[in-house]
Amino acid sequence: MDSSTQPGPTRRRGHRWRHRAACAAYPSLEWIEPSSPHIGTCRSICRACPVRRECLAVALDTREPWGIWGGLDPRERRELVPHQGTLTR
Ligand code: SF4
Repeated sequence: MDSSTQPGPTRRRGHRWRHRAACAAYPSLEWIEPSSPHIGTCRSICRACPVRRECLAVALDTREPWGIWGGLDPRERRELVPHQGTLTR
């Protein structure tokens, strides 16, 4: 599968760990909208993902405002690093 069609963080280029991302096997799940009916399934997949730590680190470093990364939604990530807030686009 081309990385541009993979869900969530696997879309990002330049991260070698993305090739081990568990979500790559689930392109039909909604990884961007945390309130989707797929959220529980996404979180379960993240819990078993071998690169969960790397994924979450990128989301925290970039203040990613969308989607599930490392099993956490944007609100949960902001709670981990509350002083960072979010970037405005
Ligand atoms: S932790 Fe979740 S969102 Fe991140 S790479 Fe793994 S499966 Fe994908």
